[in-house]
Amino acid sequence: MKTIIEPFRIKSVEPIRMTTQAERTAKLRAAHYNLFGLHADDVIIDLLTDSGTGAMSAEQWAAVMRGDESYAGSPSFARFTAAVQNLMPFKHIIPTHQGRAAEAILMSLFGGAGRNIPSNTHFDTTRGNIEASGAFAHDLNIAEGRDGQSEHPFKGNMDLEALSAFMDRHADTVPVVMITITNNAGGGQPVSLANIRAVAEIAHAHGKPFIIDGCRFAENAWFIKQREAGQADRSIPDIVRDCFAVADGMTMSAKKDAFGNIGGWLALNDDDHAEAARVRLIQTEGFPTYGGLAGRDLDALAQGLSEIVDEDYLRYRTRTHAYIVERLDAMGVPVVKPAGGHAVFIDAKRWLPQIDPLHYPAHAVACRLYEIAGIRSCEIGSVMFGRQPDGTEKPAAMELVRLAFPRRTYTQSHADYVVEACGVLQSEIDTITGFRITKEPKAMRHFTSQFAPV
Ligand SMILES: *Cc1c(COP(=O)(O)O)cnc(C)c1O
Repeated sequence: MKTIIEPFRIKSVEPIRMTTQAERTAKLRAAHYNLFGLHADDVIIDLLTDSGTGAMSAEQWAAVMRGDESYAGSPSFARFTAAVQNLMPFKHIIPTHQGRAAEAILMSLFGGAGRNIPSNTHFDTTRGNIEASGAFAHDLNIAEGRDGQSEHPFKGNMDLEALSAFMDRHADTVPVVMITITNNAGGGQPVSLANIRAVAEIAHAHGKPFIIDGCRFAENAWFIKQREAGQADRSIPDIVRDCFAVADGMTMSAKKDAFGNIGGWLALNDDDHAEAARVRLIQTEGFPTYGGLAGRDLDALAQGLSEIVDEDYLRYRTRTHAYIVERLDAMGVPVVKPAGGHAVFIDAKRWLPQIDPLHYPAHAVACRLYEIAGIRSCEIGSVMFGRQPDGTEKPAAMELVRLAFPRRTYTQSHADYVVEACGVLQSEIDTITGFRITKEPKAMRHFTSQFAPV
């Protein structure tokens, strides 16, 4: 059979509250045109993020009941650790309540004033934690990764020449080399196994630890299996193990590729670093056998890790985005190609060339998609990245609208609805206008800024 179906049946449902366009226009204004300010029950299709929004399986809910809430030495922690180490062979597994808590602890070890931390592209919370420590975050993604039209199979790759030059120039101030798989901020694009290995080699040649931000490791492994020479006949767990075998540690948001509604971890091989991390963990998250989590969460994640590497799931998962990208492309909506692992990215700079980047074209698209169809998406452009550490503002490299799909949550008819909404927006594209920010916090402004139409 050629048709790729959702490889699950629905056992429990959550009704969607339908709204009118007039209602949504009023709600958006009341939220000062920030989609993070909306009530979720005023949203019809919520593609704000794939983080923690997925559906847990029947087996995960069963694991929740199995969860043991002992403060120290819970068997849930043992099951969680075994599930992580089955895929990522690190010595120390340190649970945290989210990925950013793992990043904060990592930066308490490696960050600091004047330090420089390269990656393919740091995610916004990673960048936030690096900058909060006084260090600088550097993005060294290959040029194809910033070109929405390039069909390069691994657009998340690190620019190896740029990294080598960077290390030669800054080695004294580089405490650690990082890479994000898949590259969330750059469009959910994968990193090849060869690139991961080459980055590890460069880091190690300079005596620096190599840390993977592994939030979407399973989607990344699926793309390696599909696209990288010699990988087609290998199992997803084997590919995952190879990716992490060359690293010295990882940060993880279990709200992504662990099918969790909450959770994360920091993994490290070095005993001294792990000890320092656990001290910090106890100060900020909790005892080392639960981190910031309940025992039931640890069990749900252990089960989720066994499900996320299922090939039928990964085929359906990536096909959803490829299907939407093909249809939008055929309609003339500029999209990042090829489709990413967890999301569809609309290129608002090309769709709305009349809007100045500092009037936030991607934000304008996201707001209008909500008004038209109740679809909530996320701006990844100058609102998210435009404010510089020195207080000035400059346009981001790309103005993207991210339609991130919660895992196992929406069906093909939901996908068709999204495509139709983009068609409506396409028909009125010349009338869309930009926004200005009327109020913003000191950092991470996209979450709480207020806007007004210009
Ligand atoms: C989500 C995410 C994080 C942060 O994880 P949280 O669990 O949201 O704190 C870090 N890096 C990447 C690539 C992510 O997608």
